[in-house]
Amino acid sequence: MLSRRAALGALLAAGASPLVVASCANQAPTTTGPVLPRPSTPEDALYRLQDGNQRFVAGTPLHPNQTLELRQQLAGHQQPFASVLGCADSRTAPELAVDAGIGDLFVCRVAGNIATPADTASLLYAQAVLGTEVLLVLGHDNCGAVKTAIEVAEGKTPPGEFAPLVAPIQPAVAQARQAGATGDALLHEAVVANVRHVVAALPEMSAGLAQAVRAGHLTIHGGVLTLSTGKIDPVT
Ligand SMILES: [Zn+2]
Repeated sequence: MLSRRAALGALLAAGASPLVVASCANQAPTTTGPVLPRPSTPEDALYRLQDGNQRFVAGTPLHPNQTLELRQQLAGHQQPFASVLGCADSRTAPELAVDAGIGDLFVCRVAGNIATPADTASLLYAQAVLGTEVLLVLGHDNCGAVKTAIEVAEGKTPPGEFAPLVAPIQPAVAQARQAGATGDALLHEAVVANVRHVVAALPEMSAGLAQAVRAGHLTIHGGVLTLSTGKIDPVT
């Protein structure tokens, strides 16, 4: 077997650019996990999310549904089992946090995981057209958008161009402040309240989502991801 140095030398001699070679050298050998069947009920879909998060927390991801064959099979259609409204934060990728693969999740991400009209319409599309069984609103601790909303509420900073982002979070901040929370506890309580507000707001903003919930075709859940552990705690 060639050593890494010898392999690099061979690649460079063959004309590969140093940039590409450096990239290859930093990658572990490609592995693909199992292909898991699609959950067929909202209960099974929620269980799949919870199960995947447990693997993420334990550091034992399966990396399911990432084979080359599946990628090709899904090129012409998709039937994700879950939709996620998550924060744009770089540490909160839903596919990683619930150990999912290609075609599993329909994901909308925006700072503060707020329910914008476009995101809400996207989530309705996921349910009504693609058939997602479960919708997860995923907040996280130490959220910069919620932090900014708190600073605006306390008059420490003007909202400026962040106004469209922080205005929808203000009711959650107000609720957390009224409960007497301060400092880190205020941030945490505002994160939780914001998730709870968005879970409640989605069916109010979309008659289609409300109908899907009433008909038992969709369940909407809230969760908060702890960045250090990777654990998603339910918000009820
Ligand atoms: Zn965030």
